[in-house]
Amino acid sequence: MSACRFLAGFPHGERWSFSSAKPDGSRRPGHGLRSGVPQLPPAAEKARVEELRRAAKADLPDRIGRLSRITGLKYNKLTIRASRTKWGSCTGTNNISLSLFLMTLPEHLRDFVIVHELCHTVHHDHSPKFHALVDRLVGGNEKALNRELKAFSIRG
Ligand SMILES: [Zn+2]
Repeated sequence: MSACRFLAGFPHGERWSFSSAKPDGSRRPGHGLRSGVPQLPPAAEKARVEELRRAAKADLPDRIGRLSRITGLKYNKLTIRASRTKWGSCTGTNNISLSLFLMTLPEHLRDFVIVHELCHTVHHDHSPKFHALVDRLVGGNEKALNRELKAFSIRG
């Protein structure tokens, strides 16, 4: 496992700050990658989704490739979907799906979702071992990042 290389791959500072949220301890972090979806009128929504799809195709393959190299976590295949209910998912055969709505998130949360899915290539569940791996790779800030992620719904 390559926690140090992972952290070294990110500039520390505003774009990759894991320490902004205060722990409240009131809830388990849970999955943290689901979201509700406000909708625009159909034509505007369709145009917006296509714009996000173009942006996602230009960003997410390189992003997951970089994070995979940094963490040493290998995945099989990436699919970009217009998922409105999940930011990402990983199958038992390590095929990762990412929602094009990730493009509406700040980059550090986009990276966090991808790291979460990459960790599922090792632990295909949300066991304590899984969360320990995620937490290690994000500098001990998994809970804070999950809270920050939950503040975003899938929107533009
Ligand atoms: Zn998960």
